[in-house]
Amino acid sequence: MKNLLWIVIATTTIFAQSICIDAGHGGSDPGAVGWGLQEKTINLDVSQRLYNLMRQSGWKAYLVRSSDKTVSLSGRTSYANSLGVKRFVSIHCNAFNKSANGTETFAYTKGSSTSFSMRNSVHPRLVRAMRTKDRGTKTANFYVIKHTNMPAILCELAFIDEKSDSSKLGDSYYRQKAAEAIHAGIVSTLTALDEEIRTSDSYMAPKWSPDGTALLITHPGYNGVRVMKMDDYSIHNVSSANTYNAKWISSHEIVCGAKDETKLLDTVTGKTVSTFAGLDMPIAVVKDGTLTVAEHVISLENDVIFNAVASPDNKFVAYESLKNGIHVVNVESGKSVRIGQGNNPAWMPDSTGIVFDRALDNGHEITQSNIFLASVDGQNVVNLTQNLSLIAQRPSVSPDGQKIAFDAQGSIFIAAFAEQKIQQILQVTK
Ligand SMILES: [Zn+2]
Repeated sequence: MKNLLWIVIATTTIFAQSICIDAGHGGSDPGAVGWGLQEKTINLDVSQRLYNLMRQSGWKAYLVRSSDKTVSLSGRTSYANSLGVKRFVSIHCNAFNKSANGTETFAYTKGSSTSFSMRNSVHPRLVRAMRTKDRGTKTANFYVIKHTNMPAILCELAFIDEKSDSSKLGDSYYRQKAAEAIHAGIVSTLTALDEEIRTSDSYMAPKWSPDGTALLITHPGYNGVRVMKMDDYSIHNVSSANTYNAKWISSHEIVCGAKDETKLLDTVTGKTVSTFAGLDMPIAVVKDGTLTVAEHVISLENDVIFNAVASPDNKFVAYESLKNGIHVVNVESGKSVRIGQGNNPAWMPDSTGIVFDRALDNGHEITQSNIFLASVDGQNVVNLTQNLSLIAQRPSVSPDGQKIAFDAQGSIFIAAFAEQKIQQILQVTK
């Protein structure tokens, strides 16, 4: 009975419907420009209008950004996934050659059927509202719709560099109409099933088992739980459910689904929390963008904290924020050290440091991403993958501290590393 795997999935409870709204670009990235308009400003305005409409309909709504700030693509998806929301919509404007015009709505190429029905419901409403050319419903591999774990769409409202389209984007009447159309389209797909399976043939987000004999992996969209055995790299299907925040709780047990974890925590604390670190003893709790570590309450001005991960010795907690990247807080003193931009922190098994990814993007796709190792005091930050030319993300260190697993371009890689260097690298899936 070697490698017997159990999975613990609590029954899904019906929460209030919830959505994360992503205003594309922002801060140092204006997005497309034309006729005196910047895409980031239009995206934010329509997102805020949509946010208000969703809340008026009784939805729990979250904005990735509520001001003009720079947020990485990886930060956007990591944040949305940490919220456990039911829907994700990203708002963009198009640009091409100053003469192309019209409206397009995208779902991820291998997205869930709810993503497709949400797209198909939003799109014709958006075209009617904007009175633009109907360029059709489309599929794409845009990062934010590929790496979110809930039904997701991306709207290209109109072409900002084309005169007639641009004049509508610059008109608050049309921006309100666009928000109303997206709202109506999303609300009307409310009753669609959430749990259908995406088809996918690539892997991501490896996590070492406590005994180092297996990797927990999943597909884009956090679709399904798979386990790869390290002795022969064979892959076993544990669950086909759409899951996220899957965690090993012993070498043969996995707990998965942040919603289920939240429910678990509810019974312990009586509080609603979005994420927590440490199954038995939640020393870190994130709620509404604020982190509580032991008795210390940590918040960042104009920023949102999420995804707190306790060190194996429970003396430190690493956390992400949308604007300021990764920090490590000392549980006893409550003092935080900023590590720098990055996402997906994971601990070294001896609690002396963290690994994480740091990505560059163009607002639609990740263009470059490397795995970094940082000492717990933030003094020593090393790029482990700079010579590999891979878009390397979501690292995990083996329990013996000798190997690091990560995903890049849909494959799982395992690298031997020592003395803060990667020495050998092996691609174990494709
Ligand atoms: Zn854009």
